[in-house]
Amino acid sequence: MNIPNIKEARKRSDKEVSYIYLNQEYDNSAFKNKKYFLRTYGCQMNVHDSEEIASRLESLGFVPGNSIEDSDVVILNTCAIRENAHDKLFGFLGRCKHEKEKNNPDLIIAICGCMAQEEGVVNNLLKNHPYVDIVFGTHNIYQLQELILNRNKKQQIEVFSCEGNVYENISYKRESSIKAWVNIQYGCDKFCTYCIVPYTRGKQRSRKSNEIINEVKQLKKDGYKEVTLLGQNVNAYGKDIDGELSFAGLLEEVSKTGIERIRFVTSHPWDFTDEMIEVIAKYSNIMPYIHLPLQSGSTNVLKQMGRRYTQEEYLELYKKIKDKIPNCAITTDIIVGFPNESDDDFNETLKVVNECKFDGAYTFIYSPREGTPAAKMDDSISLEVKEKRLQELNSLINNYSLESNKKYLGREVPVLLEGISEKDSSKLFGYTDTFKLVNVSGLKDNIGKIVNVKITDAKSFSLDGEIQ
Ligand code: SAM
Ligand code: SF4
Repeated sequence: MNIPNIKEARKRSDKEVSYIYLNQEYDNSAFKNKKYFLRTYGCQMNVHDSEEIASRLESLGFVPGNSIEDSDVVILNTCAIRENAHDKLFGFLGRCKHEKEKNNPDLIIAICGCMAQEEGVVNNLLKNHPYVDIVFGTHNIYQLQELILNRNKKQQIEVFSCEGNVYENISYKRESSIKAWVNIQYGCDKFCTYCIVPYTRGKQRSRKSNEIINEVKQLKKDGYKEVTLLGQNVNAYGKDIDGELSFAGLLEEVSKTGIERIRFVTSHPWDFTDEMIEVIAKYSNIMPYIHLPLQSGSTNVLKQMGRRYTQEEYLELYKKIKDKIPNCAITTDIIVGFPNESDDDFNETLKVVNECKFDGAYTFIYSPREGTPAAKMDDSISLEVKEKRLQELNSLINNYSLESNKKYLGREVPVLLEGISEKDSSKLFGYTDTFKLVNVSGLKDNIGKIVNVKITDAKSFSLDGEIQ
């Protein structure tokens, strides 16, 4: 049993990262045609981890189920970014417990993801939720098959609070056959004062560029049209490996594979170099879209958040990107209600939003996370004030999203069609190079193709169009 420990998770040493080439084979008749139900919360990292988890389950013979009730194993891949994640976890566990007690005593219940890295959560599971069979951490996904095969009556907790290794030769059951996630880096060393990620995901570890490029080449051979390079700070790619490419260099090499579309998330404004901007501008298969989290427009709050840039530096970078890549769409993340954020601080955020006129933004009310420095700060701002600020910010953001979408009216733009719209089954959906969601009428044969679409209507969160 390995229980998480926040002190260990906080440590950063000079210990070299091990690059481990996995060679795991399992008997896929072990759970032949038994069903699994996997639910994922949180960011793209979790979504991609779930693609690995699904592949691991299928290597034992499991097939996808539709619900907790029709499944033999249920796995919840959790997110710890905000407090409300706890409600989701325990709500889900309530349903699993009921099913196990009333109908299916053999049901295997497993919890993983960032909440599994939290000491308090795991202690609670040990003490109060004995029906949970397996808890495995973000560093322990490679052990999943062993944990299932060797399960016994006792709870199995395998959560390493370590800086982490890099595993290669992982297989994924990808959700899409058109676009794929590609990890380029794990963990984070930035330690923004509000954020739990550096504790739940370990230190920054880049994958070797040859592994990344080979993965992209294989995806292209398999017919994928788009890859999204994934990391918490993709711009800092390679800094942790002697002699490795920079992120700009990596982007250039990935571009040369000839894959049709390349995206990347997330870019911290801190390590954003001129070389990166040049490479994005130069290669037509690197999409003109950047997610550039602002977090706050107040230099004072940014300092307390440990973001290491000022309002002026953010604006300077923003303008540089827009000058060099004029058609580039920029979206952002903003937190309101960081401890003691004053009206003036909040107005600075509104000022930056008014200057940047973002294409879109994810906005959050600050949520204290145990073990982070910000969670120890006194906070004089009421929840009511924070909620009002969030509303004001959202309505401003929505106006600018609509404004930026309206610029597309009447234009013809290339759209990669990904599938049938969930809201209207007579429509297909896809994305422009600038990551605008577009709904179009058209034949299913177009799914997986990049087609020219004339934009006929613009809303805050999507465009409508017709295939030309
Ligand atoms: N690495 C990315 C960066 O630095 O820009 C962000 C990754 S984080 C998973 C996604 C977003 O969650 C952050 O950009 C931030 O806006 C938000 N977030 C993180 N911790 C938060 C907290 N304690 N309360 C509210 N929002 C938070
Ligand atoms: Fe969290 Fe900051 Fe790291 Fe992003 S850069 S994951 S916000 S600590």
